[in-house]
Amino acid sequence: MPATSDTNALVAALLRDLAAAQKSTRAGWGYKRAANAVLELEVPIESLAGPDGTLAKIPNVGPKSQQVILEALRTRGSPTVERAIEASGNAADIQRRRTLRSNYLSRSQVLAALRDESLIGPTIEDYRGDLQMHSTWSDGGQTLEEIIEGGIEREYEFCGITDHSYGLPIAGGLSMEKLAKQHAEIDRLNRRYKGRFRLIKGIEANIRADGSVDMTSDERATLELVVAAPHSVLRSPSDQTARMIAAVATPGVHILGHPRGRIYGSRPGVSARWNEVFDAAAQSGVAVELDGDPARQDMDFAMAQAAVEAGCLFALDSDAHAVDQLSYAETAIAHARLAGIPADRVINCWPLERLLDWLVQMRSRTAI
Ligand SMILES: [Zn+2]
Repeated sequence: MPATSDTNALVAALLRDLAAAQKSTRAGWGYKRAANAVLELEVPIESLAGPDGTLAKIPNVGPKSQQVILEALRTRGSPTVERAIEASGNAADIQRRRTLRSNYLSRSQVLAALRDESLIGPTIEDYRGDLQMHSTWSDGGQTLEEIIEGGIEREYEFCGITDHSYGLPIAGGLSMEKLAKQHAEIDRLNRRYKGRFRLIKGIEANIRADGSVDMTSDERATLELVVAAPHSVLRSPSDQTARMIAAVATPGVHILGHPRGRIYGSRPGVSARWNEVFDAAAQSGVAVELDGDPARQDMDFAMAQAAVEAGCLFALDSDAHAVDQLSYAETAIAHARLAGIPADRVINCWPLERLLDWLVQMRSRTAI
């Protein structure tokens, strides 16, 4: 099992526990930063330990965090962290947070899964373009042109621009008027980059609590790609199977984005009988997404296996809000490889013409 042998993830979890055990936010912040530094390491942390029991310097990792790492390397636990938890009086909350870190991969494990030739599933070379990202038009920091240049650098042929819809004003959701302006800009760029790169006019629509999607069918018809994703009721243990089935049954929806809406160590996301949701997605032809944002990893490899069995199509996306986050797609590809998703079922791996045909076909489908 990749997740259990992931020492970097284990160490990061201990450092997050230590952060949660601090009285001051500032001290907590330092341990969180150390945890992130370990999660982002490109090599297994074992390889940084010397035979004399010392540890190579890791940027943003202070002496106390170093001590936790050395303890974890020796025992896979940390008395330092356990003592701090006991003293904090916050043990129950820390225990709860521990349950919210399962099947997250560290960067080192992502790279290992990409390299592992014994895994079936899409490779970096199979991956032709990214279908969920945010630009300066909503809550992202990257311009459309930067996305094109970043995509070309990664040898992509296309990217889907999926800024938030008006249903999510908190994330700068686009009015229909602003969306029309964005489309004019995309048309201009697509003419300029013709034959080299293609931007796809998309949206990240919001799945409301009742399962309806926040744009009318006429509004959705102005878009080439509709990603529908949940952004509310993400902490409730109540079953939301009906909500998610309603979303994937909505005509015009192409991708079920970050299906759970979980966040590393803090938010469990939607609870549902996912087998039934995947059956409904397979029946309507909607692709289910593996969102590669390291804090999301939503779905992960274990959950994706059930979607493989249900016969689903898949989208592997970065959910990037900046150009240097386009690499988050690699996290999604790693999970897809661990889940054994055949590349042919991944819409990002299809030739552009096939993808565009599928987008059109899904747009004209009627309710099931
Ligand atoms: Zn989202």
